[in-house]
Amino acid sequence: MTSAYDSLLQQLKRLPGLGYRSAERVAMHLLVENPDSMPELLDAMKRAREVICRCQTCGNMAEGEICVICEDGNRDASAICVVEHVPDLIAIERSSAWKGRYHVLHGKLSPIHGLGPEQLNIKNLQARIQTGEVVELVLALSNDIEGQATCHFIQEELVENRSIKVSRIGFGLPSGGGVTYADSVTLRSALEGRRTYE
Ligand code: ZN
Repeated sequence: MTSAYDSLLQQLKRLPGLGYRSAERVAMHLLVENPDSMPELLDAMKRAREVICRCQTCGNMAEGEICVICEDGNRDASAICVVEHVPDLIAIERSSAWKGRYHVLHGKLSPIHGLGPEQLNIKNLQARIQTGEVVELVLALSNDIEGQATCHFIQEELVENRSIKVSRIGFGLPSGGGVTYADSVTLRSALEGRRTYE
């Protein structure tokens, strides 16, 4: 049977960004160097797991049914910035460049990886568009083939002939991390310099 230490290490290694050495460092920290921190960490994880879910409107992280951004009456509900993942939203929020709301797709269309519209948070976006409340969509998706395909899908299948201003950012953002790893200045100019999508 795998020892308790080994199975903890296995679980830690599965976390994003942790290789074998950093998993070992975390395990040592929690078990040997600072064992008092373990109960606090476990409590915080347990509470987060119980409380945090996806916002039913936009897909952002939420402590309850609706996230703080969708609840905020000062945010422009007619303008939606579409992002792939929650960290993209967090990066744009940090740049203070966007006063509208968001929609988190939780990925992008990628038939090779089995990701079609059904696997993404597309139905909710469609529902938001169909209310007629949306007048502007900013597509902050990565500038690769999947990102382009996703923009195309949104334009063709969701926006269709509605009079919604659709624009796209992503040009000039670092490839790979895209929105998430861009600094605030780059994100601000990317949002200001967004191009009409057609
Ligand atoms: Zn929300």
